[in-house]
Amino acid sequence: MEQNMTSLIMIFGATGDLAKRKLFPSLYRLFERGKLSDQFAVVGVARRPLSNDEFQQSVKDSVISSLGEKNSLDQFVSHFYYQSHDVTDSNSYVALKKLADEIDAYYQLKGNRIFYLAMAPEFFGTIALHLQSDGLTDVTGYKRLVIEKPFGHDLESAKKLNQQIRTAFSEEEIYRIDHYLGKEMVRNIEVIRFANAIFEPLWNNRYISNIQITSSEILGVEERGRYYESSGALRDMLQNHMLQIVALLAMEPPINLTTDEIRSEKVRVFRSLRTIKGEKVNDYFVRGQYGPGTIEDQQVPKYRDEPMVDKESNTETFVAGKVMIDNFRWAGVPFYIRTGKRMEKKTTKIVIQFKDIPMNLYYQPEKMLNPNLLVIHIQPEEGITLHLNAKQAGGHLNAQEVKLSFSNTGTYTMNTPEGYEKLLYDCMRGDATNFTHWDEVAYSWAFVDKISEMWEKTKADFPNYSAGTMGPEAADQLLEKDGFFWWPVTDLEVDVCK
Ligand code: NAP
Repeated sequence: MEQNMTSLIMIFGATGDLAKRKLFPSLYRLFERGKLSDQFAVVGVARRPLSNDEFQQSVKDSVISSLGEKNSLDQFVSHFYYQSHDVTDSNSYVALKKLADEIDAYYQLKGNRIFYLAMAPEFFGTIALHLQSDGLTDVTGYKRLVIEKPFGHDLESAKKLNQQIRTAFSEEEIYRIDHYLGKEMVRNIEVIRFANAIFEPLWNNRYISNIQITSSEILGVEERGRYYESSGALRDMLQNHMLQIVALLAMEPPINLTTDEIRSEKVRVFRSLRTIKGEKVNDYFVRGQYGPGTIEDQQVPKYRDEPMVDKESNTETFVAGKVMIDNFRWAGVPFYIRTGKRMEKKTTKIVIQFKDIPMNLYYQPEKMLNPNLLVIHIQPEEGITLHLNAKQAGGHLNAQEVKLSFSNTGTYTMNTPEGYEKLLYDCMRGDATNFTHWDEVAYSWAFVDKISEMWEKTKADFPNYSAGTMGPEAADQLLEKDGFFWWPVTDLEVDVCK
């Protein structure tokens, strides 16, 4: 793998929220930890007029607000340049190319370029086409395109976007961000699975009864009402993050850890997803939208009263589903997934529930043995907990539940810069393993499109859950009809050692 950290990074949308909250602090952390060579430069692009000094100040401010005061900030921001540029205006790419070539020569960047599109998705195709037609991709080094979600709105729009970007970049040069793949414990899934003799032999339908993945937020849509109205939880969370986690949990061991091998095993999972369509959708998937409620002692409004949201909105702020993987390993094992806004607790967790033992020697009428659970805590706390049964001290062979926990130092904020830091670093090293391949995107849209087609045809009875709860009753019934229940996230905490 290429380890060349010398690069010109062009950030389109450099005055936006993502750049300020995630990208600049992440670049700074790489710089601070000596992961960036001195041969790097950043060109920020956005429409508003800013001088280089003003831009550098805004980069400093965003690093300070994220990470606090830092000594080497002046040195860091001296590598930053700004170009006021409307990405829809062909003429401005000429000036951008001139600036890029000058900076390349000054820092001896060997023609290595990363184009990071931190902008609204409607611009992705236009920018990629211009980068090629105006010569910005004519370089002697590597060229890479980093592209934010959402990658399309459905399979058709994703295909169109892919065609546009593929005219300028090959598949190997495209780094589609799924920031969940930058999260420490998401990356840990494959290590937990493939580096432990005690798990892999049990990781199949003979020993696992079901898997539950929850990603819940306390926040509502905040100022993102306009975007969310056209997206909803299905497209915003399930098509990408949730299905990526399913793929990592379900994939076969790759023959080695190269990007191609890991991606091809993930793609095989996507190919095995049972297609749910037509009336069946409502047997497998549940949608919800929050009504008013109380969160942390504060009254919060219903979704339909949020800014820029239709008063009659049919957009789901919650989705739960039963995903079946029709292959030899997983036949019959439901993967239950749920995600939503304005829920009781902010958490992302995976619960692997093992089957009951064949005979319970410790049966007591009022107390059944607990099934073994492996809980992977993704955020805000990071770690794993194994729930076992062991003898109650002093008792007469009474079994009780004990928990073995391991915790990483917790990171307490959603989408912490660390995830982006790892992904930016991977991109600079040319490691695309934790970015989504086109085939993964296409299969996941094909899966999700069948659900949205059905839901868009029928008006839902919204709102159907109160803010501050774990979603609508129908999401509980989805598991109850299979004889399961959602393990309460509040009972699954891991002690975080800091
Ligand atoms: P944002 O705050 O609205 O920023 C948009 C940026 O694009 C601004 O810098 C804006 O600056 C620039 N821009 C808009 N129109 C332009 C034009 N015609 N030419 C040049 N620049 C233009 O958006 P964001 O929240 O940063 O999100 C950016 C992307 O990241 C989106 O695809 C979003 O879905 C994705 N994303 C964001 C987050 C997040 O936490 N924010 C998380 C995951 C994914 P000017 O107004 O100065 O032009």
